[in-house]
Amino acid sequence: MSKVTTMEELLIEELRDLFDAELQLTKALPKMAQAAASPELKNAFEEHLIQTENQVERLRRILELSSEKATGKKCAAMAGLIKEGAAMASDTDATPIRDAGLIAAAQKVEHYEISGYGSARTHAELTGNDEAVRLLEETLREERETDEKLTKLAQNVIHEDALED
Ligand code: FE
Ligand code: FE
Ligand code: FE
Repeated sequence: MSKVTTMEELLIEELRDLFDAELQLTKALPKMAQAAASPELKNAFEEHLIQTENQVERLRRILELSSEKATGKKCAAMAGLIKEGAAMASDTDATPIRDAGLIAAAQKVEHYEISGYGSARTHAELTGNDEAVRLLEETLREERETDEKLTKLAQNVIHEDALED
């Protein structure tokens, strides 16, 4: 790959990173749902899986609108965050403590995405790519809502039985 020299090229690089990150998540979220102890958390992961599949399609659309092939570029950060989530599941039994750990891992994922989509949105604005701005905003809103939902679940998963041995 030649050097990135324009804002348009930088945006494409960011979109490819996000595309790969979301694809990784379509594989990781079913496992997170499987590992979750509470039905509420399972449900939250399953709902976000559906949103994530739509997010992949939005990125595909933006790349195609820019006459770019919809291909990803390995997002090493997401691979690491997913690995940490998997370790959290294997280091715990299926209790509210595992759920608290899974939520923490999932929120790190959402924060990475919020940051990535926020930057991409700004760079799309700077290049006057209105359709990309609109689609990126839509995903950004979903990631923020998911993060807030996870915060609420984190405040509620810990029932007294989780604190007994
Ligand atoms: Fe996402
Ligand atoms: Fe990345
Ligand atoms: Fe997300």
